[in-house]
Amino acid sequence: MNTSAHDFATTGRPRLQGKHALITGAGSGIGSAIAELFAREGADLALLDLTAAPAKAVGDALMKTTGRRMVAVGADVSSATQVDTAIAEAIDALGGLDILINCAGINVFGDPLQTTEQDWRRCLDTNLAGAWHCIRAALPTMLAAGYGHVVNIASVHGHKIIPGAFPYPVAKHGLIGLTRSLGIEYAARGIRVNSISPGLIMTPAAERYFQSCPDPEAERLRQAELLPCKRIGKPEEVAYAALFLASDEARFVNATDLLIDGGRSQIYHD
Ligand code: NAP
Repeated sequence: MNTSAHDFATTGRPRLQGKHALITGAGSGIGSAIAELFAREGADLALLDLTAAPAKAVGDALMKTTGRRMVAVGADVSSATQVDTAIAEAIDALGGLDILINCAGINVFGDPLQTTEQDWRRCLDTNLAGAWHCIRAALPTMLAAGYGHVVNIASVHGHKIIPGAFPYPVAKHGLIGLTRSLGIEYAARGIRVNSISPGLIMTPAAERYFQSCPDPEAERLRQAELLPCKRIGKPEEVAYAALFLASDEARFVNATDLLIDGGRSQIYHD
């Protein structure tokens, strides 16, 4: 019986054996795929989501299949106070923190002049400030150990602009800037900070976008056709990149961003 929620190949020696990782947005989509792959690679995990329940559901399933230790915490990443409390609890329960994956994020797409102050704040507070809150809460433990890897899940929207998707690209450009800035600030003290910029990946958030279109199936086909590889990406494909960046295999990779979009962003025009 296949007990896996995702399509991962069996690997050899676990690549994160003995590591402690905290993953935000772990209850769904890309975050839950990263959680599964990291647990399969030997890491003990703290899973953070808006509420603890979805993170706990993912954690309970992974504990059964991998035997790894799982801690579930709830926090809104846009609240520094909630993040400080949740991350302190997670570090305490895990007994340390080697890896932080900032995956919690939301789509806020619109016309600039129609964007309300509330939408602007919600977008920037979750997608940009949220990552900073988590890094700030994790850094003292990592700096004390002289070891830590941070991976921020940015977006192809952090590189290219799709009209009508405002202000999401503003936040994702900022997240790549945060990655570069902090990667440099703490490099000499054993901390690496990198980001991944996925293109369109089939997750519950992407499905919600398709369902918001007048003809979801037609939009799905249109999006796949725009990709050089003629298919939409899978959460597993982002998880493998996160595994590399969060592992010691990437020890000389710092303050950089890895695009995972099937090559779409390199096309100028047809
Ligand atoms: P998803 O399926 O909606 O998962 C996002 C997770 O983040 C959910 O569990 C969500 O919780 C959680 N979350 C949202 N706001 C939060 C907050 N304020 N505090 C704590 N947790 C919060 O989305 P996804 O597609 O996997 O996206 C994951 C990341 O990848 C996001 O940063 C997104 O911007 C980025 N990304 C996605 C794509 C794509 O095509 N899917 C492409 C590029 C980049 P709830 O479910 O409870 O709201």
